[in-house]
Amino acid sequence: MSTQPGVDPSLLFSGPNAPEESDLYKCVHCGFCLQACPTYIETGLETESPRGRIALMKAVNEGRIGITDTVIRHWDLCIQCRACEVACPSGVPYGNLIEATMAQVADHRKQNIVQKGAADLSLKRIVPHQRRLQALMSLTKLYQRSGVQALLRNSGLLDKLMPSMAALESSMPEVSSTYFKAKGQTVAAVGEKRARVAVLSGCIMPLINGPEMDAAVRVLARNGCEIVVPKGQVCCGAINSHVGDLDTARKLARRNIDVFTDAGVEYVVIASAGCGSRMKEYGHLLKDDSEYAERSHIFSYTVKDINEFLVELPFDPPTAALDYRVTYQDSCHLGNAQRITAAPRQILRSIQGVEFVELPNAGQCCGAGGTYTITERDFSLRVLNSKMDAFETTEADVLATANPGCLMQLQFGVQDRKLDAKVKYVTDLLDEAYRLEELNSENL
Ligand code: SF4
Ligand code: SF4
Repeated sequence: MSTQPGVDPSLLFSGPNAPEESDLYKCVHCGFCLQACPTYIETGLETESPRGRIALMKAVNEGRIGITDTVIRHWDLCIQCRACEVACPSGVPYGNLIEATMAQVADHRKQNIVQKGAADLSLKRIVPHQRRLQALMSLTKLYQRSGVQALLRNSGLLDKLMPSMAALESSMPEVSSTYFKAKGQTVAAVGEKRARVAVLSGCIMPLINGPEMDAAVRVLARNGCEIVVPKGQVCCGAINSHVGDLDTARKLARRNIDVFTDAGVEYVVIASAGCGSRMKEYGHLLKDDSEYAERSHIFSYTVKDINEFLVELPFDPPTAALDYRVTYQDSCHLGNAQRITAAPRQILRSIQGVEFVELPNAGQCCGAGGTYTITERDFSLRVLNSKMDAFETTEADVLATANPGCLMQLQFGVQDRKLDAKVKYVTDLLDEAYRLEELNSENL
């Protein structure tokens, strides 16, 4: 298509990572997706809606506008929650479109040398390398536990000097006392072996939720799974994809396909919804890779979210009872990207003593989403605010979810409002019931 006068041709979509026209022109601008979109709900603006963002993609594709800062701003504000995909009657694959668009944005974003250096350092040199990430987290742990964090917070110094940094610092998750490590270990099944599975360790989750990863492994073992945690596995690539760094995401995907294929398992079970969604879509990510295109499709079929896997197995309902009123927040990458909404609820309802109440807007994003809580802090908090209003109406003791980003965001919401409630993974509750069951049987 020809470029309109005044539009710089270098600011148009180009190269192999451009959004596909067959996806783009599926959108018929009907608007069914508008009320599903958290950024449209917050602003009421067409430009902050899925339809508006797709219209901007089409305009760039047709050479009517370029990828300017103004246009980028509207795409940046997208949380990539994919609620619009579920609402769309025309089957527009919005996830593919925004992923490709952000890859184009990455080539055109104006950054000074410090911003570019910081982005490259964190996304290319730290996140994909578990040892470096762990070293960084260990420093953070020292900061949190040495008393320096408390001193800084109580002094109010950061608030006065750098308010935006203070806001970020206040939402920093607590680093785990113990890390979950992928060392090539095998955990035996409890009782008769029903399946041999591998577990993804991930990047951030094993460092901030080490004990929760251990709980997920115990739940699998308790249900007859032999678990391997292959050495050499890497981050799934979701964080890199989110910001348009598809080259790094592809490198990570190839490595994981090799490592998990060599593990010789029936399934690769994922405790984080965001990672599961990324790995189930390796086929699309590597579709143009002559060596991995077919392998990635086959591999994707072996990837299972842990809630999905447990229900299909099927898991043993625990016999011990917990005493909680529990509600559940659908993680977007489980509900919208993987379309799994019933399994976590089925698990929660199976636990005796759990009084399950639905969260009024459970399907709406909590405002987390890749790096969104950092890069779009104000907007992320606006979306979280609606979520916490809804949570308070449930009067639940526990807010369950299925993704580390959501867990951190919701924990921040609970702390910020000083609520007497806990945020947990669904598998944490199942593990707690199983452990109580074990204790009860020992005391018989
Ligand atoms: S994305 Fe789907 S629902 Fe939204 S305007 Fe386009 S066709 Fe309609
Ligand atoms: S992914 Fe979420 S935030 Fe982005 S346009 Fe779709 S519904 Fe809106």
